[in-house]
Amino acid sequence: MYTFLIVSSVLAVFITLIPDIFPYCSCCRKKKFRPFIKLHVPVSFKLWYGGYKSVCRKCCRKYYINSIDDLNNVLRLKKYTEAKIKSEF
Ligand SMILES: [Zn+2]
Repeated sequence: MYTFLIVSSVLAVFITLIPDIFPYCSCCRKKKFRPFIKLHVPVSFKLWYGGYKSVCRKCCRKYYINSIDDLNNVLRLKKYTEAKIKSEF
């Protein structure tokens, strides 16, 4: 009985920690291992991946992202260019 409790609590802790171990890069939309993530900022009180915004090292270097404001600018630009490309075809 106790082993079941321990296993389930460990599993619960592990599941809640997944967004911290494998953050989701908001820029290239890929899940990456924590050491490859440069920016990892809590933005809301949502659980799971909704509460954090993360950017990987590659995107930080590519788009010169140093803060969450830079990320928002890049995301807005990306959305704008994507919409523009789609409207041209
Ligand atoms: Zn990325």
